[in-house]
This record gives sequence, C-alpha cells and structure tokens, in this order.
Amino acid sequence: MSKDKPTVVVVGAGFGGLRATRQLRDADVRVILVDRRNYHLFQPLLYQVATAGLETEQIAKPVRAILRGQSNFEFRLAEVRGVDLPGRLLHTSAADIAYDYLILAVGGETDTFGKRGVEQHGLGLKHLLDAVAIRNHVLCLFERAALEPDPARRQALLTLVVVGGGPTGVEMAGALSELVHLVLAKDLPSLDLTQVSIVLLEAADRVLPGMPAQLTQAAVATLERKGVRVRLGAPVDDFDGEAVTLRGGERIAAKTLIWAAGARAAPLVAKLGLPTARQGRVAVEKTLQLPGAPEAFVIGDAAYLEDAGRPLPMMAPVAMQMGDTAADNICRLLRGEAPVDFRYKDPGSLATIGRNAAIAYIHGLSLQGFPAWVVWLVVHLIQLIGFRNRLFVLVNWAVDYFFYDRAVRLITSDDAPC
Ligand SMILES: Cc1cc2nc3c(=O)[nH]c(=O)nc-3n(C[C@H](O)[C@H](O)[C@H](O)COP(=O)(O)OP(=O)(O)OC[C@H]3O[C@@H](n4cnc5c(N)ncnc54)[C@H](O)[C@@H]3O)c2cc1C
Repeated sequence: MSKDKPTVVVVGAGFGGLRATRQLRDADVRVILVDRRNYHLFQPLLYQVATAGLETEQIAKPVRAILRGQSNFEFRLAEVRGVDLPGRLLHTSAADIAYDYLILAVGGETDTFGKRGVEQHGLGLKHLLDAVAIRNHVLCLFERAALEPDPARRQALLTLVVVGGGPTGVEMAGALSELVHLVLAKDLPSLDLTQVSIVLLEAADRVLPGMPAQLTQAAVATLERKGVRVRLGAPVDDFDGEAVTLRGGERIAAKTLIWAAGARAAPLVAKLGLPTARQGRVAVEKTLQLPGAPEAFVIGDAAYLEDAGRPLPMMAPVAMQMGDTAADNICRLLRGEAPVDFRYKDPGSLATIGRNAAIAYIHGLSLQGFPAWVVWLVVHLIQLIGFRNRLFVLVNWAVDYFFYDRAVRLITSDDAPC
C-alpha cells in the first residue's frame, strides 16, 4: 500500500467506524483503523450473553477477518490516549499515528451519574466481559440461594433489580425472567421460585421513551405477565451491594443491580479540549466535522448533533449512517468539493421482551406481540456480522425456543463464589 496516499485514520471499530472504513474501500486513500479491541461487538445482543442465551464469540467478530478483502486497510491494536488536532497526530498506547483526515468513532460508556455505590457494586452492560460478569453473578446467586436456609437472605439473593426503562433495561428484565422461569426452574427444582423478584426501576413515568404510549403500555403489560415488577417514577439513589436505595429513602434488599440507565461519550472525547454537550458528547458541525478542525470528524455515540431540535440518539443506525456521511465527506474534500450535511433516516425502533413478544414502531406503523418479535429476530440476524455468527445464533435461538433452554449456563469465574 502506498504511503504517499492521504491517510485516513478511523478510531473505533464499532458500528460507525467499521461502516466508515468499509465506505472508503474504493477511495484512493490509506485507511488505518485503530481500536483497543481486535473485534467488532454487536452490543444489541449483549443482554443475551448476560442471560446465558448466546456465547461471547457469537456476537463479536475479529476486525481483521471482517475487512480482510479491503486492500487499502490496515489495523492497529492500540488505545488512543490523546489527539493533537493542530498537529494531526494521535497519541496511542503503541506508536503515535499521523493523519491527513480523522474519523473519531469511539462510542460511549456506562454513566452512573456519579453514584459511587452503583459503580462499585452494580453491574453495567457495555462490554463482552460485563455480560459474562452478569451471567456468572446471577447463576452463582441462584446456586447460593438453593443452599441458603435464612428466608430474608434467600430473598435478597433472588431479587434482581434492573435500572433503566430504555430498550436495554426492558430487554434485560424480560430475558432474566425467562432465564429464571423457563430454565433455572428446571435446574433448581428445590428452589421456591415464588421468592424470585425481578424489578425494573425507571425514574421517568414511562418506559421506552420515543415509542407511542400504546406500545409502551403493551411492553409493561408483557413484562408484568412474565413476572417482572415495573416501577415507574422510582429514581435510584444508590446501591451498597446489599440493598438498592430509592430517592425517597425506600430500600429494596437485593444483591443484584444491573445498571442500564445511562450512557455518556467515551473518555477520549473529554480530552479533545472542545466544549461538550449532553452526555459528554462533542458538538459537531452538520457535516460531522469538528469546529475549527475541518479534517477531523466525530461520529456515533461520541458526537452531539440535533435533528429537528432534538439530539440524535446514541443508537447503531445513527452511528452507521454518520460513518457513511463522514467517509463520503472526506472523499468530497479530496476532490475539492464542499462537504454535505448529515441527514438521519430513522429506520424505526424495536424492543423484545422475550419469546413471541416484542414491540416495533417503524415509519409510523406500530406492531406488537408475535409479528413484532419476528421483525426483531430478522433485523438482528441480518445486522449481525458474519455468516458463521448468524448461523450459530439462529441455531441457538431455535434450540432455546423449542426446548425452553439456555445453552450457556456456565459460571466461568474462578473467583470465590459470588
Ligand atoms: C447493551 C446495549 C444494547 C444496545 N442495544 C441497541 C439496540 O438494540 N439498537 C441500537 O440501535 N443501538 C443499541 N445500542 C447502542 C449502540 O450499540 C451504539 O449506539 C453504537 O454501538 C454506537 O456506535 P459507535 O460506532 O459510536 O460506538 P461503538 O459501537 O461503541 O464502538 C466504539 C469503538 O471504539 C473503541 N474505542 C473506544 N475508545 C477507544 C480508544 N480510546 N482507543 C481505541 N479504541 C477505542 C471501542 O473499543 C469500540 O470498538 C446498545 C448499546 C448497548 C451498550
């Protein structure tokens, strides 16, 4: 590959960075993709790893394998620690990397809003190892509960609190309920499942913001049918590993708190030295360029941009479409043309609440129940990267569906029992 060609450095092999890299495949540039992990992660299915439905490698794929056929691409496994915007240089955990154009697609991280106890004792869901930690923790607590003679202590072991009524919290609560009632009920027949309590706490007065009210009501009704207690207007103050404290002072004895209530931009964004907007995201121009640095683009969860007066959500379709626009704009700049504004095309929203149950809102059309669930399955299978992953996920889902099973009920932690 010629080193004389302009160098485009893409940081982050997530939804946005991967899409931008692919979009540049025919451009007369050298593309260097940098990520601290060597794989692309399909985060929307993390909750299924956390609830023993899928294995880690089924929702991730090595970057080098994904982009093997792209001749203008190089991969660097490194963490980017700083960006020298005027000098067009990245400081990384390996060598510095010079660029002509930069696409920062570093995504986000869990935000606990400074709640120390939640940070220390709660379980987030952002990385593969987070999902494995949740699986180990829940399976381990149920084993402990089966041996616990004291009813109050057993109750705390069997109380699973999920915080956040967005799609992740709703999907997580539904999947936990199915893991417990369809699978662990068979594994641990001596355990009295009437003591299990799965609670979904949401600070606002509704779940799934952005979905029509009738769909969110359907989601709540389905969750409650599955044994999940949905509590709206219930902001969490903190968690000490033994109990969750709500803002009004109420305490819920529980050993498990899964935090799905907040996300903010990845820490690298704060190091750019630029003003940040909500959720620590950096405000970009409509063309996705950084103010004052037209050769640098920020996309996906790390970027803040409004559409019709509302911030674009931290979601995969936004990141992917931004990846396309940033790559196209770099090609336009190389041709001496003006960059174009980003226009988001909303493909709709989906959330599943377990077998045969989902809600979908697509271009004004509301679906719920089985039809929405089928749409959810098809969309997620299509979006997963790699034929092998799609095949294995499909087989896993079919086995779970017909045999009421969860194949990955392994406690893989070597630590002392939870
Ligand atoms: C549990 C969960 C469920 C979700 N479900 C959905 C869903 O159902 N539908 C939906 O649309 N969206 C969903 N999302 C949101 C969606 O995953 C994100 O909006 C999307 O991943 C954002 O893409 P991105 O390219 O901005 O960042 P990401 O996909 O997060 O990728 C960022 C990449 O940057 C790398 N990186 C970060 N910092 C550095 C650094 N300093 N140096 C090197 N590399 C770095 C990371 O390793 C990562 O590979 C979900 C998110 C989570 C956490």
